[in-house]
Amino acid sequence: MHEMALTRNVVDVVVEAAEAAGAVEVRAVHLTIGYMRDIVEDIFERCFTYMARGTVAEKAELVITRVPFTVRCNKCDHVYYIDVNKEETWVCPSCGERDYKLNSGMEFYINDIEIVGPAAPEVEACGQEKADTCG
Ligand SMILES: [Zn+2]
Repeated sequence: MHEMALTRNVVDVVVEAAEAAGAVEVRAVHLTIGYMRDIVEDIFERCFTYMARGTVAEKAELVITRVPFTVRCNKCDHVYYIDVNKEETWVCPSCGERDYKLNSGMEFYINDIEIVGPAAPEVEACGQEKADTCG
């Protein structure tokens, strides 16, 4: 189950970044995953919850954006969608060639990590009216 290894990496990166930022909690993790990545989102989420237990990311919500699989025609540069299971979609709709390179669909990265920051330092809680208690 390769979701385990991928999730391990994601948890490590998220926890490291959150701790470096002084986060007390990670609220959400935004991920971009290409459709060619053979990832079962349910399993991925369950692995994440399991591995993040006891870390600042244990309550984080995973927000996954899937990127469709597209290719770029080597002859005319046209970008089109491909369904690997349907051979008729492998042909360039623009010029009819079947000579292409991968354009998108293999992505796997973290776009954003939403954190709950550290509690505001005492001094910032002091407004004008409490100025005399701020020492
Ligand atoms: Zn073409």
